[in-house]
Amino acid sequence: MNSLEQYYFTEEHQMFRKTLRDFLQKEVLPNVDQWEEDGQLPKDIFLKVGEMGFFGMTHEEKYGGSNLDFWYDVIYIEEIGRCESGGFGASISAHPYLSMSHLKYEGSDFIKQKYLTKAIKGEWRGALAISEPHAGSDVAGIKTTAVKQNDHYIINGSKCFITNGVTADYMVVACKTKPDAGASGISMIVVDADAPGIMKTNLKKLGWKASDTAEIAFDNVKVPSENLLGDENKGFYYIMQRFELERLTLALGALSASEYALEYTLQYMNERKAFGRTINKFQVLRHRIAQLYAEVTSVKTYTYHICRMYNDKHYCVKEASMSKLLATELSDKVMTECLQMFGGYGYMEEYKMARMFRDSRLGPIGGGSSEIMREIISKIVIDDVSYSPRSTVDRPQLNIEELFSSLPSRFKKEKSAGIQMKILFDFGNKKYLIKIENENITTEKTVDSGLSSVDLTIETDEQTYINVETEKLNPQEAFLNGKIKVSDLGKMMQFGTLFEKFNN
Ligand SMILES: Cc1cc2nc3c(=O)[nH]c(=O)nc-3n(C[C@H](O)[C@H](O)[C@H](O)COP(=O)(O)OP(=O)(O)OC[C@H]3O[C@@H](n4cnc5c(N)ncnc54)[C@H](O)[C@@H]3O)c2cc1C
Repeated sequence: MNSLEQYYFTEEHQMFRKTLRDFLQKEVLPNVDQWEEDGQLPKDIFLKVGEMGFFGMTHEEKYGGSNLDFWYDVIYIEEIGRCESGGFGASISAHPYLSMSHLKYEGSDFIKQKYLTKAIKGEWRGALAISEPHAGSDVAGIKTTAVKQNDHYIINGSKCFITNGVTADYMVVACKTKPDAGASGISMIVVDADAPGIMKTNLKKLGWKASDTAEIAFDNVKVPSENLLGDENKGFYYIMQRFELERLTLALGALSASEYALEYTLQYMNERKAFGRTINKFQVLRHRIAQLYAEVTSVKTYTYHICRMYNDKHYCVKEASMSKLLATELSDKVMTECLQMFGGYGYMEEYKMARMFRDSRLGPIGGGSSEIMREIISKIVIDDVSYSPRSTVDRPQLNIEELFSSLPSRFKKEKSAGIQMKILFDFGNKKYLIKIENENITTEKTVDSGLSSVDLTIETDEQTYINVETEKLNPQEAFLNGKIKVSDLGKMMQFGTLFEKFNN
């Protein structure tokens, strides 16, 4: 066990890793070449993984899960990444981390009883169907529609590149329920994969061969309305929320495959001779391997930190996007350089390096491409765009009235002795006057007139203020970018010290 693992994993985690590794050695590695040939995984392996409880580790016990911490999932993804088949990893991970996570977070009790319990047991395989032939990165641009008719929806449209799409028993499908509303018109619906009107075609692809990847057509597919996940038209929001986990799993998978490729390559370098010595003695090659180890370990250390944030329920979409970007691109580099160490044998199917090289290529494309990751990161760091935390999923959108009515209960009386201040919050069409006199505070909605005597004026828009109060936006950044204008910075800072954080 290396020091990073010692630091993050308990003895129980390590025991679990051993159990899982033994299981994969016995049940997966001897079969993986055949599954690559078949282009899909057999039902049997889902049942075995389900029976071991690996699909339900972080799920509630009442649906058959074990309610464990996220580090068990981290180990699962890492060990799956060492199975010499990106396709096996894709299929056996898309089920729990793409399809099941929507059931877990947005599913009603009915959905969980009907689908999640079977998914946890591995009896039913799931797929997540968002991408379409003309809309991959542009999720809001999907065209598949779900029209409500009495107690059911009628779905029409098509999906593309769907992992497990051919073999799935159910699919979580993104549909437009308000076609003209862009991102605000998408809903997520669970669809039985054998429903009349569904046609699936397996696509031939460069790598990930052991997983089936489908193009799916929906022709007047009738689905009961109770199969809606969460609320109608909130699908885009749910998709963005779940991307946090998806990106983290893709980063972990890429790093684990990279480590495995490095180990595999070192073994080969130990044996292969050129010019009278094993090639692991050539300094130029040694340095290349050392460099790759340093880079993989650095990104892995960063990614573990994000896993800890995720486990502690800190919202980390920015960090997970960065991790996915760095880890998947690094994996491509590792595979290219490792293959080079094999010389001509790296190009031959006889060695697993060729497959690892092919499989890695999907990392910077799927689950949000590298370009989209950079786009998200630049929106966050350059344009101050904030993405809502996980905890807000089931909470109605906060409004400004709620925030102002919470001020008296958050007021720190012990800090306000001797302070007399009148503060005007100016949101354009709405204005609030706050009066602080020693230990008393009053807030009132007001109009412009008669306010020349205020000590501090804060001009901003409602969303910026909500974002600052709910810690989605750093107030200094907002101030520097001109999103908040204040008449007296010193007084603004003093005002900020008088309140407890808004408890969301
Ligand atoms: C093997 C495989 C499995 C998959 N599994 C699933 C699955 O299970 N479920 C699912 O829903 N989808 C799945 N996908 C789809 C995958 O998520 C998309 O392929 C991916 O999001 C990219 O979309 P696209 O292929 O339509 O490319 P496009 O969106 O057409 O992009 C083409 C190129 O343009 C770039 N680009 C696009 N927009 C921008 C922009 N704004 N700025 C800069 N560059 C941009 C992209 O980065 C890319 O390089 C899978 C794909 C593959 C190949």
